[in-house]
Amino acid sequence: MAERDNMQNLKIEEEIRCRRCGRLLMKGHVRLVEVKCPKCGFIQVIASQAANK
Ligand SMILES: [Zn+2]
Repeated sequence: MAERDNMQNLKIEEEIRCRRCGRLLMKGHVRLVEVKCPKCGFIQVIASQAANK
């Protein structure tokens, strides 16, 4: 099968949610990112959970 089909089968299980209002900001694995919630405007730094293991 084509690689494109494989990509669509990838399942992203990690959800990044706003710590203030709980809005889903993005999905995926991030190392370190600063993101501003479009809903409540709260700026937060998201660090990889894997780094804490
Ligand atoms: Zn928010």
